Amino acid sequence: MITVLEAIKLSTEYLEKKQVESPRTNAEILLAEILHCKRLDLYLSFDKPLSENELNLYRESIKQRAMRIPLQYILGYVEFFGLKINVNQNVLIPRPETELLVEKIINDFKSIKNLRILDIGSGSGNISLSLAKNLENSFVTGIDISDKAIEVAIDNAIKNSVANVEFKLLDIMTEEIFNQGKFDLIVSNPPYVSKNDYQTLEPELKVHEPRVALTDNADGLTFYNRIITIAKNILKQQGYLYFEIGKDQHEIIYGLMNQQNFNNIKIQKDYSGIERMIYGQYL
Ligand code: GLN
Repeated sequence: MITVLEAIKLSTEYLEKKQVESPRTNAEILLAEILHCKRLDLYLSFDKPLSENELNLYRESIKQRAMRIPLQYILGYVEFFGLKINVNQNVLIPRPETELLVEKIINDFKSIKNLRILDIGSGSGNISLSLAKNLENSFVTGIDISDKAIEVAIDNAIKNSVANVEFKLLDIMTEEIFNQGKFDLIVSNPPYVSKNDYQTLEPELKVHEPRVALTDNADGLTFYNRIITIAKNILKQQGYLYFEIGKDQHEIIYGLMNQQNFNNIKIQKDYSGIERMIYGQYL
């Protein structure tokens, strides 16, 4: 019989050998999920033996993590801004930095009614849904180039009971975007990793997350260029644009926004001190 503590210890060693970061935490989170308990509750049941079924399930999930499949895909969900967002390998895993973007927008717009919001590259729907949920009189349109991502986002809208939102299959690089009317607020966390940087990513990202969600296969700036250039066609006058951005992209994107009549442009850092967000108002 293998106990909770023994199972955690063996798995931790195995994950460490496979160069998984924070192996013990990963081992604990996966076991807690199988035992339907909180991670800290494991500490109260270290001596409890695992049933054969529990052990098999645990072995399977540890094997997946050892293959560097991200923890969130194995669990099938992530917590994002208080919502449970389901994820699979067709969508980028929502990152904690992106919660800062959502929080900033909610703070800036909480007293404004009837906002029409466009989320470009909506992925799992994390940004669209957290905005729609917290800006009650708003209506959010999420667009994405991936039909599989749209499926995940719609499912997440239903599971989180968010009704003031829609998701549409639409490629921002096509003319179709000009037929959607104009928006008060545009938000986007587009694929911003450059082709070169993409090669250096950890296997969790490079092998398992959708490439289309991470890189533009160019300099990382394709979608900022596109969105800023077409702002006059998709943003109302005095509308706002909020971007998540990659490391060291802030100066060039500031320049682009400045050139295209954006005013009051501000940059905000993330938890690691990296310029992660840029926003401004279109005049
Ligand atoms: N923040 C992601 C990363 O970890 C990139 C997401 C994106 O390209 N928008 O690299």
